[in-house]
Amino acid sequence: MNNVKAIAQLEDLKRDRLSFIHNDELDSVFLDDIKAINLAINALKKCPDIRDDSFKCRMCGKELKTWKSIQKGFGPVCEQKFLNDVYTNQQISVEAILQKKGEVI
Ligand SMILES: [Zn+2]
Repeated sequence: MNNVKAIAQLEDLKRDRLSFIHNDELDSVFLDDIKAINLAINALKKCPDIRDDSFKCRMCGKELKTWKSIQKGFGPVCEQKFLNDVYTNQQISVEAILQKKGEVI
């Protein structure tokens, strides 16, 4: 989601809110919604490079499809790669430490 898409989404939401207004007392609630949406749209227009990458994999940048992946920040493939990397790096560092101590088997 980039801010152009977000503005379009908010404009849709605004039209939706506008359709609820029928000139009765409840209208103030919808008017407040619309005011808040307008503020958000104006803020987004002032900052053209805001992007929401929170639903993308932190390793490869692909869109994440499950809530579980979104919480982790990785897709299943990259998560496995990441875990393998951590494991490999740990092995290397342990071997390096043993070599320094002259305790290599
Ligand atoms: Zn990935």
